[in-house]
Amino acid sequence: MAANFKAELVACFGQPVAENPTGAMQEAAFAALGLNWRYLTVEVPPDRLGDAVRGARAFGLRGFNCTIPHKVAVMEHLDEVAPDAAVIGAVNTVRRAGDRLIGENTDGKGFLRGVRQDAGVDPRGRRAVVLGAGGAARAIATELALAGAADLVVVNRSPGRGEAMAADLAAKTGAPIRFSQWRGTYRVPEDADLLINATSIGLYPDVEAMPPVDLAGARPGLLVCDAVFNPPETRLLAAARARGLAVLDGLSMLVYQGVIGFRLWTGQDPPEPVMKTALARALGVMIDA
Ligand code: NDP
Repeated sequence: MAANFKAELVACFGQPVAENPTGAMQEAAFAALGLNWRYLTVEVPPDRLGDAVRGARAFGLRGFNCTIPHKVAVMEHLDEVAPDAAVIGAVNTVRRAGDRLIGENTDGKGFLRGVRQDAGVDPRGRRAVVLGAGGAARAIATELALAGAADLVVVNRSPGRGEAMAADLAAKTGAPIRFSQWRGTYRVPEDADLLINATSIGLYPDVEAMPPVDLAGARPGLLVCDAVFNPPETRLLAAARARGLAVLDGLSMLVYQGVIGFRLWTGQDPPEPVMKTALARALGVMIDA
């Protein structure tokens, strides 16, 4: 067999990006499958994003992730954006098809996969409350709407952003999405089936912060989810557990968005336990793989 010293390349473009743990789990999966692929974590300032995408084309990257602050700006540099990523209005994963770069969004899909697989809940016909109106909230709300959620309430501190997101997603998905302004403590309605924190409240280093929500009126079947993955056990999840409620942490969403990305890039099924263990190790926490 002819020698081949050329690795296939994927990457993550962001700023700041040094603490992004995705590379650890993708490289572990490549190694476990014996693939000569590399995941490069690359600091790209906003005014060099166009150059970075041209570089990706020149180097023949098989794809790349985009993180803060590039998820929206990257779209103008791509050849195509997948329909759900267009509804979300952001791209976190780019794949290459021939010479074309296609934008996808795997954040909300990763979240849904966790809800179904790890929490055993089918969102179809369920009533959900999404806290936040940023990129993560948009991705989660869009995929919940497309998965047939019966009712979606977007709760956000800034009314302009929350209202615009609810109206835009309702128009684009046809799903019943309403906005509720977050003033003081938000009382979780008794008929809610899912509560998702998609704000950055509780994110390291502000680990003692807790979204101001009152779980007292929640039904016992409520599933409480957090997009924050560092730390995985947020104060919100601890409070929910203390009430005997089911919880889903942000590691689940992070792993599954990576699993979906791996498949889009390589066309192969990744070893999910390897990815979970590598991510947990990278974040310095222990989880069941
Ligand atoms: P954005 O900056 O786009 O949005 C932040 C949201 O949090 C806004 O709705 C903002 O409200 C709200 N918020 C922030 N601070 C407060 C506060 N003190 N009180 C009330 N609301 C607040 O961030 P992203 O959507 O990109 O990320 C949100 C979280 O999701 C982060 O913790 C991120 O790490 C996590 N995430 C996790 C992923 C995973 O795979 N697990 C993937 C992507 C993100 P306002 O509009 O009023 O400012």
